[in-house]
Amino acid sequence: MFKSIRIKMITIYFLLIFIAMVIVGVFIIQQFESYHLDVERNNIVQVSNSVSATLQNMDWEEQQDEAQETIGFYERVGMEIYIVEKDSDFKIVASTNPAHRDQNAAHILEPELILGAFNGEDVEKDMISSGQQSVRSKNMAFPLYDETSRISGVIYVRRDLGDIYQTLDQSRVILVRSTAVALMITIVLGYFIAASITGPIRDVTTKASKMAGGDFDQVVEVKSNDEIGQLAGMFNYLTARLKTSLQEISNEKQKLDAILTYMADGVVATSMEGTLVHINPRALSMLSLDRKGSQEMAFDQLFGCAKPSLCLDDFQGDPSGWSGSEVLEMRDGTKIRASYAPYRNEKEEMEGIIFLLQDITEHEKLESMRKEFVANVSHELKTPLTTIKSYTETMMEGGVDDSEMQQQFLGVIDSETDRMARLVRDLLQLSNMDFQQTKWEQQPINLLELTHKTLITMEHTMKAKDQQLVYQPPEEPVMTRGDEDAIEQVILNILSNAIKYTPEEGEIRVYLQKENQTAALTIQDNGMGIPSQDLPRVFERFYRVDKARSREQGGTGLGLSIAQQIMEAHGGTLHLYSREDKGTRVIMRFPLYQQENQGVT
Ligand code: ADP
Repeated sequence: MFKSIRIKMITIYFLLIFIAMVIVGVFIIQQFESYHLDVERNNIVQVSNSVSATLQNMDWEEQQDEAQETIGFYERVGMEIYIVEKDSDFKIVASTNPAHRDQNAAHILEPELILGAFNGEDVEKDMISSGQQSVRSKNMAFPLYDETSRISGVIYVRRDLGDIYQTLDQSRVILVRSTAVALMITIVLGYFIAASITGPIRDVTTKASKMAGGDFDQVVEVKSNDEIGQLAGMFNYLTARLKTSLQEISNEKQKLDAILTYMADGVVATSMEGTLVHINPRALSMLSLDRKGSQEMAFDQLFGCAKPSLCLDDFQGDPSGWSGSEVLEMRDGTKIRASYAPYRNEKEEMEGIIFLLQDITEHEKLESMRKEFVANVSHELKTPLTTIKSYTETMMEGGVDDSEMQQQFLGVIDSETDRMARLVRDLLQLSNMDFQQTKWEQQPINLLELTHKTLITMEHTMKAKDQQLVYQPPEEPVMTRGDEDAIEQVILNILSNAIKYTPEEGEIRVYLQKENQTAALTIQDNGMGIPSQDLPRVFERFYRVDKARSREQGGTGLGLSIAQQIMEAHGGTLHLYSREDKGTRVIMRFPLYQQENQGVT
C-alpha cells in the first residue's frame, strides 16, 4: 500500500498536520485552563481580602447576621463563602448558603484546608465532588485575623469551575472539528500536490518501461523548470542519446553480421565454458552442421576433437599458449585450416576462443600441382640432357671413329636439343599466358583457309604414315576473330596429336561447319584413343597417357593445355571425346565473326 509516493506523501502530510494540531490544541487548552484558573484564584483572593477586611473587627456572636449579609453579597459572583469560627469547634458562622449556617464545617468543607488556614497559611485545593454529576471546584482557605492579629477564623471560598470546564470542553470540540477539517483539506491538497509530483514520475516510468520493450519513440512532456521538469528533460535527452547509440550499435552489428555472413572464411566463437557463441554460415557449411543442431553443440563436438589441441581441455590455464593453427581433414575430403586465439572483453578478461576456418583444399591441390609441375619440368629437361651428355662424352672420349656413327650421334644430340627447345618454348608460352602477358592480335581469321594451310603443313607427315585424310571443305568461308598464329597452333597441336596417336594407314577426318553462333572445327581419328580413366586429365600439363610413346613421338605433354588456354583466351571451347582403341574426336568451337556486321564477334 505504501509503495505509492502519493499515499506516502498524503500520509506524511496527514500525520504532520495531525501532530501539529494535537500539540497546538493541547497547548492552547492547557494555557486556556491555567489562565482561567489563575483568574479565578485572583478573584477568590480579592474576594477573600475584601471579606477579610470587612469582617476583621467583627464579633461573631453579636454581628453574625451582619457578617451573613456581607457574605451574601458575594453569592452573586458565583462563589460559595464560608466563615468558620475557630473557637467554637469549626462552626460555620456565616455562609452564602444560609442552610449551612451554624453547622460543623468539618462535615461540609475540606477539613484539611480549614486546618491549614488555622495554621496561618493560605491553602487551596481543586476538588471533584463525586455525585450524580462530577463537579470540579476550586477550594481556598485563608486565615482571618482579629485586631490582635490572632487567627480568629477562616474564610473558606469554593468556586464551582463547571462553567470553565464546560467552556474548555467546547473549545476542545471546536479544536477537534477544526483539526478534522484541516486534515480533510490536507488530504485533498496532499492528493493534488502528490499528483503534481507523481504524475510526471509515473509518466517517465511508463515511458521507460515502453523503452525497455524496445520502443524508443518516447517523449515526456516538460511542464515546468523545477526538478521534475529537469528530470523529464533529462529523460528526453537520454532517450534521444540511447536511440542514436542503439541505432549506431545496430548498424555496426548489421555490418558485422553482413561481413560474417558473406565472408569466405568460417568464423566460430565459443565461450570459456565451451558453449557456442557465434558461428557464421560459412563455418556451418565447412563443418557440415545445420544452425539448429549447432546451437546445443558442445565444444568438443565442433571439431570432433579431431586434433588434441582442439579439445576444450587444452584451453585451460595460461591463455598465452592458446593461439595456433591446425589443419583438419574433413570426412568429405576437404582440408580446413583452423586458426585460433583467445578473445577478451572490454575489461581485458578472457571471454572465449575464436576460430577462423579456411578451406585450403584448393590451395593444397594447387600446391601439389605446383610441386608435380616442377618435378615434371625437371624430369622432362633431365631426360634429353642425360642423352646429350652421354652422347657428347662418348664422342669426346674418341669412342666413335666412324663418321657415319658420328653423324648418327650428332643427329640424336640435335633432336634432343630440339626437344628441349620445344619444351622451353611451350613452357614460356604457357607462362606468358598464365601471367596474361601474351598480346593477342584481333584480326578476322578465315578458318577455311587456315585449316587448309595446316593440312598442307601436315600432309607430308600424314603421307609418311600412309594415313588417309577425309576432308570436305565448306563452300563458304567460315570466319572467326583473333590471333591467327595462335589459332593455327591450336589446329596444328590437335592435328599432330591425331597423326601421332593413329597408327599407319589410319584415317583422319576433318570437318568445318557453322553451328549457331560458332564455327566448329572437328578433327577425328581412328587411332589408339584414350582410356576413360585418363580422359579427365589429358588437359593437365605434362599429363600423358603413355609417357614413353609420347616422348618417342616428340611430344612434351603440353600441347593440349596450350591449345585449351588459347581457345579460352579467344572465347572458344575445346572438347575431347575418345574411346580406347576406337579413336578420338576433338571439337574446337570458335565464336563466329560476321563480316557484314563488323566488330561483332
Ligand atoms: P603430347 O605432347 O604428349 O602429345 P598433349 O598435351 O598434346 O601432349 O596430349 C596429352 C596426351 O593426350 C598425350 O600424351 C596422349 O596420350 C593423349 N592424346 C592427345 N591426343 C590424342 C589422340 N588424338 N589420340 C590418342 N591420345 C591422344
